[in-house]
Amino acid sequence: MLTQVPRRATRLLLAHSGRPSACLARSLPQSSLSSPLCGASYTSSRTFLSWFKSKPKDSPFAPHKTSGKDKTPVLSQDDLFHPFSKSPFPAIRARGEAIRQLAPCPVCAGEHNHGLHSHHGHETKAVSFECPDCGWPTHCSEEHWAKDKEHQKYCARLREVNEDEHDLRSGRRMREFELPGPQDSEAAISFANWDVFWYTREFPSMDSERSRRHASKILTYPITIGSVLHQFSNLTLSNQRLTPEGSRSLAALRTNLHVPPGAPETPEAAVTKPQMRIFILGARAESSLPPHVWEQLCMLFPSALFHLYFIGPQVSLPKPASEVNKMPKSSEAPAQSSTVATSESSSSSPNAKETTSEAAAASEQQPPTDPKEEKPVYLPNVYEPPTPAPIARLKRTRSSIEQYGVPSYTVPYTAQLTITGMQANYSEVHAQFQETFDPYTDCFFLFSPGLGFPSPNSVNEATGEPLLQVASPTEWGPVLPQLLATKCPIFVTGFSPADVERDVKSLSHAPDVAGEFDWVVTPGPNAFLSEKWEVADFDPRVMVKTNWGIWGIRGKRREVRERSGFLGLNL
Ligand SMILES: [Zn+2]
Ligand SMILES: [Zn+2]
Repeated sequence: MLTQVPRRATRLLLAHSGRPSACLARSLPQSSLSSPLCGASYTSSRTFLSWFKSKPKDSPFAPHKTSGKDKTPVLSQDDLFHPFSKSPFPAIRARGEAIRQLAPCPVCAGEHNHGLHSHHGHETKAVSFECPDCGWPTHCSEEHWAKDKEHQKYCARLREVNEDEHDLRSGRRMREFELPGPQDSEAAISFANWDVFWYTREFPSMDSERSRRHASKILTYPITIGSVLHQFSNLTLSNQRLTPEGSRSLAALRTNLHVPPGAPETPEAAVTKPQMRIFILGARAESSLPPHVWEQLCMLFPSALFHLYFIGPQVSLPKPASEVNKMPKSSEAPAQSSTVATSESSSSSPNAKETTSEAAAASEQQPPTDPKEEKPVYLPNVYEPPTPAPIARLKRTRSSIEQYGVPSYTVPYTAQLTITGMQANYSEVHAQFQETFDPYTDCFFLFSPGLGFPSPNSVNEATGEPLLQVASPTEWGPVLPQLLATKCPIFVTGFSPADVERDVKSLSHAPDVAGEFDWVVTPGPNAFLSEKWEVADFDPRVMVKTNWGIWGIRGKRREVRERSGFLGLNL
């Protein structure tokens, strides 16, 4: 997915069917992808793993959100269900429109597929009838809706998503986005599951499933990373999620993440330590998470320093300074005031947490557009993923293009956290890091990279079939061998059991990858997944959960290097 077109509708459809490989990809109902909404200007729409589907503009309360957090909500908690076409929020109405254009009626499609000849008889019509129980456009007509017994399997979940989307925009105080400050050094954090994590990290209590879904969605990226790396990780030798090789890799990293046993975990202990470098490759939505959400990762490790690198063609970059300056603001602070307040405050500042829900709602995925252009209210999530909207320019944000040679920025957010974003394929910048990798300080995370999905750009010349992305020169083909050569651990997530399985299987046929790695973390569920269902606009029956599963590998150490003690650890 280090490509311009990393994830496509095909992936989601495959995930849904659970069937592997490229043959299905080619049998995609093209009609559903060739609607007017999928024209050139829509080639970049992936909100499948995106944050929330609104922009501040969409909702009347948003522009004033930080000014008074207890003001009257637009929607009350018993008024969260609205059919898409009747939603008070333009973004939700627009999403309904998008689905009507894209999704085929499943009953028509079934009749179509069972017919003897596809050219005769039934035409698959688009969905235009809204199910009264979930509010989503689901069938071409009430008749086909009534006929479809299968819909019951999806209806309750779809209704849940409908209400979640309205709740997010309801204007209520989103306590689940009020993130806690630094951890009490006496209190240990548990990573058994979200509940004990939130409890031991002193989050506000998540007293509804809905709150859990909202909070887990925004926290899944930083806490997935933290839960893997932390000494109290739930991935252990005894539950066989960690391998002996993995145990050595993590022990190496933990020498710099934690303090020696018995010593207090304090910021002072970080002074003499090297920065931990976490390379998040193929980053998209995660690169547009507000920095104070990423700070939650740092707070799990009070004695460590972090440098996060978001690298990928779809990394979100700051708004251009020229655009920021045009904003009607007092001239002194060339950025939005609320966000600047966040960035300038220390990690413990109460201001930091208040902008979370605003940022969450604002981080809709949008390709960068000319500021004068009218932005579409909603971009359907079916086609090709967009580059997230530009992120806020913080006061100390500086361009790094001179340093890395690609569009990039670096921001020293706090003393503990530095963030760099590079809008480039990783293989373009690998050479700059190649000599510096160190298994004691560096690791890689790939969130739903789609290794096992067919490349949209590269075909096998012998067979004419698309190459899998893991072996494709335009996607992960050159990257994985480079990562394995570093001997630093590589952690990978997937959005469903089928997605994880597909990616893992793809490794066994990839040149310079098959046979060249050791397992670090065995494939399996991730306790820190997003609990929110993500629904595909091209077929609302397709639903996945961000970071459902996780696994990890590392370049194989050859015998002679092992003997000489590559890590120098006696574990
Ligand atoms: Zn129909
Ligand atoms: Zn329904």
